[in-house]
Amino acid sequence: MRAYNFSAGPSTLPLDVLKEAQRDLLDFANTGMSVTEISHRNKAFSQIVEEGESLLRELLQIPDDYAVLFVQGGASTQFAAVPLNLMHNGKADYVVTGNFAKKAFEEGKIYGDAACVASSADQTYTYIPDLTQIPFRKGTDYVHICSNNTIFGTRYIDFPQTETPLVADMSSEILSREIDVRRFGVIYAGAQKNLAPAGVTLVIAKRSLIQNPLGICPTMLQWKVQDENGSLYNTPPCFSIYVAVLVLRKLKQMGGIAAINEINEYKAGLLYDFIDNSKFYTNNVVKKYRSIMNVPFVTPNAELDDAFLKGAAKEGLVSLKGHRLVGGMRASIYNAMPVEGVKSLIGYMKKFEKDNA
Ligand SMILES: *Cc1c(COP(=O)(O)O)cnc(C)c1O
Repeated sequence: MRAYNFSAGPSTLPLDVLKEAQRDLLDFANTGMSVTEISHRNKAFSQIVEEGESLLRELLQIPDDYAVLFVQGGASTQFAAVPLNLMHNGKADYVVTGNFAKKAFEEGKIYGDAACVASSADQTYTYIPDLTQIPFRKGTDYVHICSNNTIFGTRYIDFPQTETPLVADMSSEILSREIDVRRFGVIYAGAQKNLAPAGVTLVIAKRSLIQNPLGICPTMLQWKVQDENGSLYNTPPCFSIYVAVLVLRKLKQMGGIAAINEINEYKAGLLYDFIDNSKFYTNNVVKKYRSIMNVPFVTPNAELDDAFLKGAAKEGLVSLKGHRLVGGMRASIYNAMPVEGVKSLIGYMKKFEKDNA
């Protein structure tokens, strides 16, 4: 039996995508070779990269003056690539709304005058700071935000108006809701949450901003070089890119981002409504900022949390343990989590409450 996998990442992929990948694992596009064996210079593979880019452009309505790149090293490597490509004046503002936002900020400090201009650490990251009150500095190269905070379960509803380019880590929500790419200078996202197996990272960058990487920027991290080489400067993570394309095709078939967003809102709504109507379970995120991708919750005490997790795993509801910084539970309900999975989780939560309240 296939489990309902609520892991925050790497996370569940659509079953039909996995089946297709299974088929192509032995013979890809009638080449007589596995998709994991063919050269990245093989036409059948370069077509995959091109299709991935064009599907992303279509689904996210990415304008032509933005580059769409498939790179390696995870979102964490982009924490460094951002200053290395953009920090010409040696100055950038960061909004710290969680653990990954903080890591990005710490990495920024290695390269220049990075400042934390707003933070929600005072309330253990359970909200997003008031965007109209953020004291952005003059003369920065960019402002960095993390749009969906995977560990704490918050997300931005609006994005701040900034004088300098807005850079967003969208790893845990890319392709889950409609965004206006024009509001951003750079968007990046590790693929292993909403798009593909681990190994590939998506970067969407306004071309006019990426022409002058810092002199110390490694060639592999230069977005300009990746753009000029169509993401094929070196051997790319072929299999992850290929699975990403299968996921993107499916997303298009389903009706695109608007359609998946509606399903995501519905799934998250079911779970939050259930938690809010229960005296047993709690989610302490300020309602307005609740993520529709990552839903942390607790029972009345840590022992019950442990029992909850053990019982859930027996029912095929797995990887529900909260991040070690938060404890309790976290249900990551990305695009590929079926509505049925969320309903099963709620069914189990009801039963557990009845048995333990
Ligand atoms: C998972 C995650 C990361 C880290 O991604 P890696 O690919 O493991 O480097 C960074 N930011 C956010 C928001 C994430 O959810």
